[in-house]
Amino acid sequence: MAKNEEKSQAKELKEKLFSEKKNGFLRMSEKEVAKCDKYCEEYKNFLDKAKTEREATAYIVAAAEKLGFKQFHKGMKLSAGDRIYTLNRNKAVVLALIGSKDISEGVHIAAAHIDSPRLDMKQNPLYEDNEHALFKTHYYGGIKKYQWATIPLSLHGVIVKSDGTSITVTIGEDENDPVFCVTDLLPHLAQEQMKRTPGELIKGEELNILVGSRPFRDDKESERVKLAIMQILNEKYGVVEDDFLSAELEAVPAFKAKDVGFDRSMIGSYGHDDRVCAYTAFSALFDVKNSTKTAIVVLTDKEETGSDGNTGLKSAYLRYFIEDLAECFGTDGRTVLSASECLSADVNAAFDPTFPDVIEKRNAAYLNYGVCVTKFTGSRGKSGTSDASAEFVGRVRGLLDSNEVIWQTGELGRVDMGGGGTVAAYIANLNVDTIDIGVPVLCMHAPYEIVSKIDVYHAYKAFKCFLGE
Ligand code: MN
Ligand code: MN
Repeated sequence: MAKNEEKSQAKELKEKLFSEKKNGFLRMSEKEVAKCDKYCEEYKNFLDKAKTEREATAYIVAAAEKLGFKQFHKGMKLSAGDRIYTLNRNKAVVLALIGSKDISEGVHIAAAHIDSPRLDMKQNPLYEDNEHALFKTHYYGGIKKYQWATIPLSLHGVIVKSDGTSITVTIGEDENDPVFCVTDLLPHLAQEQMKRTPGELIKGEELNILVGSRPFRDDKESERVKLAIMQILNEKYGVVEDDFLSAELEAVPAFKAKDVGFDRSMIGSYGHDDRVCAYTAFSALFDVKNSTKTAIVVLTDKEETGSDGNTGLKSAYLRYFIEDLAECFGTDGRTVLSASECLSADVNAAFDPTFPDVIEKRNAAYLNYGVCVTKFTGSRGKSGTSDASAEFVGRVRGLLDSNEVIWQTGELGRVDMGGGGTVAAYIANLNVDTIDIGVPVLCMHAPYEIVSKIDVYHAYKAFKCFLGE
């Protein structure tokens, strides 16, 4: 008897003292799980309609305008409950809901990125080689190049003519559209190729996209396949070869977002990184009716290439917006920023049972364990991280727990295994309390990435309680 009592005392103490980790599915009622699933239906639609930063921006602005968001301008008269947005070169967007509290007490920022790894066309993309027409590309972001061969690709972007007119291009998304493809060698003849290191299996200059094969009917001229393709492009878009010089054409996987698994518990899609955090953040803001602190959602470009450039978060555009906003209320940007808090929303690596060695299992993120909070990112001695303070982590913990958000902590892989950073550091550099938060993803940066529906919904819940405060 005494022995049993001892056991139950240990059990009791364990329950009190040990952290309890439990699959999110088991922590929710059927009804709550159904909510997660339902929420993800519209997310899938967003994934299919907004595959590039420009498309995501257009989608978000259109949705925001429907909900009464007005374009912000300097000196605008604003009061609590007003909804505003500002566009940055059609590639990034900042949305805001004005809170009831004085803005000098700080704002709540959720920041995610809407660019994803892909293949960008070079400025002279089109060429003919042995009666094949191809596009030269330069990949965008960190990819395993071999993954991008032999999959259907669609082409998205803009072509700007020298007179300033802009032509929007989307080919390969409609059921009746053609698609494009990077070719690879058949295994029968790949003996030499297979000796290459995996990083070189398909080299950068081999990521050539096949775009045509029928020659123009005139056997006196050279480059007749290229000519025939140029003729099609000229008829369809009114462009000539020189117009590629001022184009941004991006090849992305042509497949659609789908449920994954017999139980439909997951979603497979191109570009969850980071549209999963973008979607959950802006849809959370859309659902906030009023907040005490002003709530801001930043959806930025260029995260995948290091946040440089005027549409990336190393640029001053967010700071300028907050300075202009502060001015509307008779205060200044630094006062607002110094009192502000930010959830830097980006995906994290989910534990993959096939590759357990790259993670440290006590500090890894798992599918279905909820939205993942990461105190620090960076690699090799935390370089490149903003490292949220214990105080701010404590504050976020309390917020998520009191709002019944299912969440977990997770780092991006084992120490010294590699790693990566997000935009957190650039916002923290503005003297804002910042922490990383996001959805765990399987096969991150692959053409097809996988997330759990439960985690997606709880990211939404996290943003909603933060932005709604
Ligand atoms: Mn990301
Ligand atoms: Mn990424």
